[in-house]
Amino acid sequence: MSVKVARVKASNLLTKSNLPASDYVINPYIGCMHGCRYCYASFMKRYSGHEEEDWGSFVDVKECDKLIDRKKIEGKSVFMSSVTDCYNPLEKEEKLTQRILQRIKDVNCELIITTKSSLVLRDVELLKQFKNLTVAISINTLDENFKNDMDNASSIKERVDTLKILHENGVRTVLFMSPIFPEITDFKAIIEKTKNYVDEYWFENLNLRGDYKFVIMDYIRTNHNHLFDLYSKIYYKGDKSYWSGLEKEFESYCKENSINYKNYFHHQKLRDEKIKNA
Ligand code: SF4
Repeated sequence: MSVKVARVKASNLLTKSNLPASDYVINPYIGCMHGCRYCYASFMKRYSGHEEEDWGSFVDVKECDKLIDRKKIEGKSVFMSSVTDCYNPLEKEEKLTQRILQRIKDVNCELIITTKSSLVLRDVELLKQFKNLTVAISINTLDENFKNDMDNASSIKERVDTLKILHENGVRTVLFMSPIFPEITDFKAIIEKTKNYVDEYWFENLNLRGDYKFVIMDYIRTNHNHLFDLYSKIYYKGDKSYWSGLEKEFESYCKENSINYKNYFHHQKLRDEKIKNA
C-alpha cells in the first residue's frame, strides 16, 4: 500500500493523557504505517482530515516549534505513543522520536515506549541513558501468517529478537500481549518462547468498537469460521464469560511460574472513567 506523507503544524507534542496509567502522552505522528486491522486509533481519521482514507495509508509528521517542557514531566509518567507507533517506518528518516528522546533523556520521569517495530533498536544507546524506562513490544501471536493478516509491522521473529537485544542491553522489557484474540492468541506459548528476556507481561483483550468491529468479525468468519460462534457470543451478545475464564487462567499461570504481569483487561473501562472524571 502506498503511503501519503504530509507535514502538519502542531502547537505542542506533549499532551495530557487519557490513559489510566500515565500523566502525559507524546504522539510524534498522526496515523500509522503499521495499519493494524484492529487499531482503535483509527478514529483519528475523523479528527485529522483523513476520513476518506484507509488507516495505514497516511501519516502526518508533526512539526512543532515548541520544545517538550522538561519541567512539566519531572516526576510524571509519559507514554509514547497512544495513537501512532513512534517507531513506524517513517521514523527511520524523520528521526522525530529520536529527537524527543534526546530532549528528555536526563529528566526524572517514567517513560514507557510501546512499539511493534525493531527500529527501536536503532536508539538502544540512547535508551540506555534513561533511568526509568520501559520498552513494551506488542506480540499477540507466534504465527507470522496471522500477524501478516493483521499488520504491516516487524515480523514476530524480529519482535522477539528485539526483546532479547533490549534485555541484553539492560533495558526493562515488557511483552504487551495485545490485543488477545480469543482462541487465536496462545498466551502460554508466547510466554514460554520469550520469558528469558521479558521483565513483565501485560495482557489486554481485544475490544471491538467502531468500524473495525465489522472488519475483524468478517475476517474471523472468512478465515477462522469455527470460531465465529464464539466471537459472536462475545462481540454481538456481550458475553464476558470467555474473558473472565481467561483472566483466571493467565493469572494463576503467571503466579505458579513466578511471572510478573499486569492485567489490562479492563483498560478501556478505566480509560472511559478517566475521561469522564477529567
Ligand atoms: S501499531 Fe499501534 S497505532 Fe499503529 S496501527 Fe497498530 S495498533 Fe494502531
